[in-house]
Amino acid sequence: MDTDALLEQVLDGRSISRGEALALINGVKVGTKEMYLLMHAADSLTRMTFDNRGEVHAQIGVNIGPCPKNCGFCVFGERHGLAPKPVELSPEEVVKRARTAQKEGANAIYLMTTADYDIDRFLSTGREVRNAIDVKMPLVANIGDFNTEEANELVDAGFTAVYHVVRLREGVDTEVDPEERLRSIAAAKAAELDISYCVEPIGPEHSSEEIMESMFRGRDLGVAIQATMRRIPIAGTPLFGNGQISEIEQAKVTAVARLAMKDIYAMGVHEPNAPSLLSGANMIYAETGSNPRDIAEDTREGRGRSVAACKRMLQEAGFKTFDGPAPSLQGWLRE
Ligand code: SF4
Repeated sequence: MDTDALLEQVLDGRSISRGEALALINGVKVGTKEMYLLMHAADSLTRMTFDNRGEVHAQIGVNIGPCPKNCGFCVFGERHGLAPKPVELSPEEVVKRARTAQKEGANAIYLMTTADYDIDRFLSTGREVRNAIDVKMPLVANIGDFNTEEANELVDAGFTAVYHVVRLREGVDTEVDPEERLRSIAAAKAAELDISYCVEPIGPEHSSEEIMESMFRGRDLGVAIQATMRRIPIAGTPLFGNGQISEIEQAKVTAVARLAMKDIYAMGVHEPNAPSLLSGANMIYAETGSNPRDIAEDTREGRGRSVAACKRMLQEAGFKTFDGPAPSLQGWLRE
């Protein structure tokens, strides 16, 4: 089947198979008519399904410091020698930033830590944030691996979702067992936490097959949000020399990932970029505090965008923005 015919069928409501996704990643070249048809199909699907709504999710990086998981792309990997001395936001500061993000119109709040951060301290801060924000505001944990009991404790503390991913070359470029990641996701699902997923961190060395398998892992796991993230090469990290894919190459992956994921509630792109917002993405992140892609102690002063800047970017791409809780991570309200 040619690309035009396939994309017509997608717009009529058909899902794409693994083989078709692979054919699109391999066969569609940037700058061709097929590329714009692919972008159009994914963009149309998103705008129709989500009523042209764009979402801003605000992430607060709670701590920085050396992390024993040594991910080859992360500034915090302790062996890379780049991590600054440990710094941690106080619970009061995390609450203040969550309140500020909500006031600025964020649609979900994420709390992120390094993988070995103490879970009890995290739960305590989570409870304080939960009590300070809208009762329906999605509260998302972006933390290291956790077991079933800890997943239930996240729910009890007021979290409604987790951002948890089996990263590209997990266990090869990281010191994290991919099976452990899958066990955490299973624990989150058993606790009825929504899953925010991502094909990440994409670099030039990743094959089309690896990228496709990552997309379909998200589909098989029944995640609420799919996304793509390109790797930001940080000088001094082991994967720095591999370079970076372009935003337009990422947009192609975003479009195929969107077509592979019909039953999601939002499609994200990190870091925010315009080509992906015309290729099926409708959700981007505002960031404060620590950021594994940034050498700045507080990413507000570095790579992180504000909620206002994210809203402007969505609007420039033709999306409607709104203040208050996102519909995308409201699994606890859906049944
Ligand atoms: S990405 Fe997360 S798990 Fe990996 S080194 Fe950085 S903080 Fe640790």
